[in-house]
Amino acid sequence: MEKHLRDFYVFLGPPGAGKGTQAKVVAYHLGIPQISSGDLFRENLKNQTELGLLANEYIKVGDLVPDDITVALVRERISRTDCANGAILDGFPRTPAQAEAFDEMLLETGCKIHKVPYIKVPEEALIKRLSGRLTCRDQGHVFHKQYNPPKKPGVCDFDGSELYQREDDKPETVANRIRVYEELTRPLVEYYLDRGVLVEVDGDRSIDAITADLVKLLEVDESDV
Ligand code: AMP
Repeated sequence: MEKHLRDFYVFLGPPGAGKGTQAKVVAYHLGIPQISSGDLFRENLKNQTELGLLANEYIKVGDLVPDDITVALVRERISRTDCANGAILDGFPRTPAQAEAFDEMLLETGCKIHKVPYIKVPEEALIKRLSGRLTCRDQGHVFHKQYNPPKKPGVCDFDGSELYQREDDKPETVANRIRVYEELTRPLVEYYLDRGVLVEVDGDRSIDAITADLVKLLEVDESDV
């Protein structure tokens, strides 16, 4: 089988499914970067860039940042040299228009999407997960007050930075994010199913069990090509 120069993986699932947690660990196992569009926006906000301040107007109410802004941001990010062997995308694409733009981007550079793990979690669990979620200021590592507490309260196990509750993890905003997911992002399940790359993963289990499945799934894939 022809080996593509770079293979990309898209982690799909509702907000709170554990995409970020899993994408970080699995990317480390595969030795490729994890790219989270949400982290890129938050980084821009932390640095008070024009893009960060604009994106935050949408983020704080749980709406999506417009497609053109998001696509341009991801296009720039994947053109960097650390993506020479591919990457795991987490939180992008999130609309059919983004998925089409991403396909075009990859086509231009001779790359393709290898697999799209779709992490499924029941809605009741999502609300519990998001409302107890703690995020690290420095690198976006994710913890949970009950299900995955840090060793030292309020401090990230990995980089020692402060843990905080994201403004958009507050209950009013969580409900809108789930609604937006259902309307705009869920159609991507069908989109990737039609392209033969979607694989369902049960996300209602322990973090380690899900990681083990994902690593197996993606590693088999690497040796297949
Ligand atoms: P996340 O960290 O993936 O939960 O993203 C946090 C917020 O950033 C989302 O609720 C959106 O407002 C925005 N965002 C992240 N990724 C995208 C995307 N691909 N398209 C539009 N907005 C996004």
